[in-house]
Parts: sequence; structure tokens; C-alpha cells
Amino acid sequence: MRQDIDTICVQGGWRPGNGEPRQVPIIQSTTFKYDSGRDMSRLFDLEASGYFYSRLQNPTTDAVAAKIAALEGGTGAVLTSSGQAANFFAVFNLANAGDHVISLSTIYGGTHNLFAVTMRKMGIDFTFIPPECTDEELEAAFRPNTKAVFGETIANPALTVLDIERFARAAHAHGVPLIVDNTFPTPVKCRPFEWGADIVTHSTTKYMDGHGAAVGGCVVDSGRFDWMAHKDKFPGLTSPDESYHGLVYAEKFGIAGAYTAKITAQLMRDFGCAQSPQSAFYLNLGLESLHLRMDRHCSNALAVARFLKQCPEISWVSHPSLEGDKNHALAQKYLPQGSCGVVSFGVKAGREAAEAFMQNLRIAAIETHVADARSCCLHPASTTHRQLSPEELAACGISPELVRFSCGIESPDDLIADIKNALARLHS
Ligand SMILES: *Cc1c(COP(=O)(O)O)cnc(C)c1O
Repeated sequence: MRQDIDTICVQGGWRPGNGEPRQVPIIQSTTFKYDSGRDMSRLFDLEASGYFYSRLQNPTTDAVAAKIAALEGGTGAVLTSSGQAANFFAVFNLANAGDHVISLSTIYGGTHNLFAVTMRKMGIDFTFIPPECTDEELEAAFRPNTKAVFGETIANPALTVLDIERFARAAHAHGVPLIVDNTFPTPVKCRPFEWGADIVTHSTTKYMDGHGAAVGGCVVDSGRFDWMAHKDKFPGLTSPDESYHGLVYAEKFGIAGAYTAKITAQLMRDFGCAQSPQSAFYLNLGLESLHLRMDRHCSNALAVARFLKQCPEISWVSHPSLEGDKNHALAQKYLPQGSCGVVSFGVKAGREAAEAFMQNLRIAAIETHVADARSCCLHPASTTHRQLSPEELAACGISPELVRFSCGIESPDDLIADIKNALARLHS
């Protein structure tokens, strides 16, 4: 039976049997016992499914991953230790040394660094293209060794909205998948698979957890990208894995399971970026109220954005759902029920005034965090994006006076009063 997203938030993933715990049990065990060595070797050969070591799989994390897969409408998901690990796995599961990936330039600073510095050191090249690139520019970015296109549904912190259909069409025309980081809208506000994306990633640290309790990530597979139809491009999925006696993921696990099976069997085995069962439990508590919280985050952000828009101290305001925003048309298409709780804006008097404004706030705290139940704010140019050059900053859509304000789920009247007061104190 197909259920509404609200019901999946509350009840998805864990299905207790008769007399079993109602809440997802925390299976705090590194290992699992078997009656015979033969039982265990079948697991090691991926001949049977089951648990043997929590670096690869654990029942608690699997139950929570299944909930996120259901929320996104995917066929499978893997929880990771962080959003960074999720994006690394999502790309590295497809691209090897000598390969190339196209990424939107307006992405999270940590992801930009992962791609532009660390993965380049591993021999994977990246081309960064702006979301407003022309069709010719987009076309020209593809190379014979391109293995994926990557973007964020709503970019952190530039707040540009990804034209998912357009980039999916371009990716598919070149026989590669579109990977979408859906952290900001969450599946409550946008389900990228419905628009043609193939893989979705999350920093579950943000709205999904929602309470600033546990760092985590997730990779979700739509189960629709036909690896075998592009056999030569994706040898990791379509040719024998000698570390599993010549098993071929796309044959053994099929179109719906190959991608996540390879992440678990290879990348989790070798890199070990597993989420702990305890963290997965916290994440699940957050997911149970995600649908309710997202509505409040979005309505608070819109109220704050509308207020800031008419403040003389503010030079510009960006929020995808705000009338007149340059991303408003895309937001109406992809995010008709609200976008996210984040508002970016410029303090007219410049960088120092932006920092002073932030210090004057009483409800929103200065934090390296976003998408939390408690409002918080950050100055990206001097924190999350400080490694970037001025040119790279501009390409990411970040100016020196930009404040990223993450609306929590407090009273909108109190948030606005706090901002009003902090702005007034700039004059005193
Ligand atoms: C925070 C964030 C990440 C990184 O996630 P961590 O959980 O901090 O590792 C990746 N993508 C986006 C869009 C983010 O906001």
C-alpha cells in the first residue's frame, strides 16, 4: 500500500513483528553470532544476506535507511557517518582515477573542497558549471570519461534551485546518472527521483536529525539507472569484482540493488564510514517529526525573508520561496509546498556590520550549523567557505556581506523581533 510521506516519516522502515519493540531497537553490537563457519562464509561471499559486522551493515541503521529510501521513493539506501561521506561514496561508487564528473558550482563548501581538492588528488577530475549555464556550456562540459553530474536541490548557502529535469536530461543523454544532494528541502518538500534524478544524497545532520544531535549522511538509489545499458562506462558495477570471487553487482543485485550493494560491500568494507546504531536511533527520532518541522521551518523562513526585504539596513534577501526571488520560478516548479528554512541576505553596511548584527541576536545563535530546530546564523565567507579564493566564492554565490540565517521552529514573531532589535542596535 502506497503511503503518504507523513505516515512514512512516522512509521516507515521498522516493521515490528508480534511482541517486538514498537520503537526501532538500538542493536549496539559490532558483531553477530553464527552456528557454523559455513553460514558465515556465505555472508562473506554475498551469497546470503544477513549481518556479520557493523562496519558493513547493522539492523538499526538498515531500518532507518529503509525509512529514508521510502521517503525518497528509492529502492535502497545506505546510512553513512556524515554527509561528506555520503557525497564521497555517491561519486566514488561510480568514478575511478582517470574519470571525470560535472558538478554545479553552487554547492556546499565542504563538498566543493572534497571534489576540487581531495578527489582531484585521487585522480578524478571535476568541471564546475554555474546553474545558469547555457545548454551549449553544459554540453561542452561532458567528456568521454564523464561518469556523473552532481548538484544540490537547494544549494547551501547560495540557495539556488537546481533545474533537476534539465540536468537529468543532459546527464541521461550522455549515459550517466544525476546525483542530487537533497539535504535542504528533504523528501518532504522535494523528491528528486520524481523529476529524473538517479541518486540522492543527504547530510542527515541537518533537517532529518533536526535537533543538532548526531552527524550523519545517507545515499539513496532510485533503482532506475540501467548500468548494464552503459556497461563500459561503469565497470565497477558491470564487470567482475575479484574481491568477491568475480561477482558482478549489476547481475547479482539487478538494476534496483547494484549501486547500494556495491557501496556496502566495497566502500563500507574499505573506508568504514558507517553510521553508529545510536546515531541512527537519534536520526529516526528526528525523522518521526520531519514533516511537521519542515512546514514550520519553511513558513518561518518566508516570514523572516518578507520582513528583511523591507528593512533599510538590508541590501538584498534571498530565499527560493520569496516572491520576486531569482529562483522563485524554479522553486514554484520543484518546491511548491515550501523550500527550506534558510534565508541569505546582505547587510548593507558590509562585512563588519554583518558580524555585529549576528552578535546582537538573542534567539539565533552563531553556529557552524544549519537546518536545526533552533535558529542559527553564520557568516560563510569567514567560516565554512574560508578556504575558497574570492573568485571561487563568487562562483559559489557568496559575497562578503552574506549572512546565512537558518530559521528554526520557534515563534516567527519572536524571530522577527530578535532581528529587528539586532538591526536597531547597529545604529546605537
Ligand atoms: C552540511 C552539508 C553537507 C555535509 O554534511 P555533514 O553531515 O556535515 O558531513 C553536505 N551537503 C549539504 C547540502 C550540507 O548542507
